[in-house]
Amino acid sequence: MTTTFEQLGLSQPILQALDLKGYTTPTPIQEQAIPYLLEGRDLLGIAQTGTGKTAAFMLPSIDRLRDADRQTPFKSCRMLVLAPTRELAGQIAQSAKDYGALCGLKVQSIVGGTSVGKDRNKLHRGTDILVATPGRLLDLIDQKAFGLGGVEILVLDEADQMLDLGFIHALRKIVPMLPKERQTLLFSATMPTSIRDLSKNYLNNPAQVAVTPAATTAERVDQYLFMVQQDEKQSLLEMILQGRHPVPGKLERVLVFSRTKHGADRVVKKLAQIGIPANAIHGNKSQPQRERALAEFKSARVPVLVATDVAARGIDIPGVSHVINYELPNVPEQYVHRIGRTARAGKDGIAIAFCAEDERAHLKDIRKVTDAEFERLALPDNFRAVVEGVGPTKREVQQKMARPRVTPRGGGERGEGGAANKAKRPARPGQPRREGAGGGGQGEQRRPADRRRSRPGQR
Ligand code: AMP
Repeated sequence: MTTTFEQLGLSQPILQALDLKGYTTPTPIQEQAIPYLLEGRDLLGIAQTGTGKTAAFMLPSIDRLRDADRQTPFKSCRMLVLAPTRELAGQIAQSAKDYGALCGLKVQSIVGGTSVGKDRNKLHRGTDILVATPGRLLDLIDQKAFGLGGVEILVLDEADQMLDLGFIHALRKIVPMLPKERQTLLFSATMPTSIRDLSKNYLNNPAQVAVTPAATTAERVDQYLFMVQQDEKQSLLEMILQGRHPVPGKLERVLVFSRTKHGADRVVKKLAQIGIPANAIHGNKSQPQRERALAEFKSARVPVLVATDVAARGIDIPGVSHVINYELPNVPEQYVHRIGRTARAGKDGIAIAFCAEDERAHLKDIRKVTDAEFERLALPDNFRAVVEGVGPTKREVQQKMARPRVTPRGGGERGEGGAANKAKRPARPGQPRREGAGGGGQGEQRRPADRRRSRPGQR
């Protein structure tokens, strides 16, 4: 029997808010963590974005804050959530507002890259829940605009990434300012020694919960592979997005991973040249640019987003139908993070890897670490000729094409039914062409469905 949110001990206003959100069953991390947190225990949670960890710590915390019924402290907060990136902080704050909608708690977030003056004003009267990036919080504390004396609950979210980004110094300053009597929660996707040390220093007899996304994520995602030369990748991407070379699944929102910022920009620029709207998201983009790119992706106005790993980590991007690994990551775990962007909250997803000759070693590592099995897909007919511009040039093919397969919502420059399009439109087979026997390489022909059947269960 599956556990319900009610059985986990959450109160009525929260259950109603969950009802409004349409959540019916707790995710594994929620099922494990919520009872401990309602008891007031400290917690060390090993879980990554996409597992439902935000609700796992937010729901019971809101319940406890509500129960204690204390006043909102002046220039302080009752619950402090520290997050490594602005996007993540924004998402957590939004979740807190959604989940606590009927509890009357005040939620604020403060992040770098915005006006400090505005933050000072909005925190003047204090808040119940504050979601912050560490640097901005310290700025306000230094300016005596905020203090930590009121904190009852501290959450360190994505702690491994906070350490990666060098926030350890900020944490060392912040944590000693907190009341000793408090509940502390630490979430991390991985468990290196540095996180163990952090947990030893900051947590008091913590309960430990872990969900193992590596296997479950890989299990829910159908993984495909193109062996393709580096200089052919752009053409292949274009043909896929235009529907000229069909791939499994309906392309709705496509998240493309590039290894470098520069590479991401280049892909976007070339897509724009053939009329496929796409945005890039990476470290050189300003906060408003990132927010716009995310909003346009979420609304499917611009359904192609080209991202680097750092920019995409921790961001909740719903409705991703396909993750395309334009370049393979050299760290296998990163591959798991990437493909975890599709197949969220129980949905299945599709991941497509473009592997060039010099990336074979990365592919091998990914296979070894994640147990991933790829179904290899064949390149388009006459592909090299298309890439080199022999035979029909890209422009010629493009002119014959209907509008891109991945179309912006509300956009769509040319109607599907134009006479010219009808006449010349290439046939679109429903099924992608898979590489025939003998061409697939070692074990790559196995269907993902077979793999799924042979895997153990969730946890
Ligand atoms: P998180 O891991 O917190 O980033 O959550 C990942 C996504 O799952 C978010 O879009 C949440 O809104 C969604 N989510 C969290 N808990 C549940 C649940 N119990 N049922 C359905 N969706 C959920």
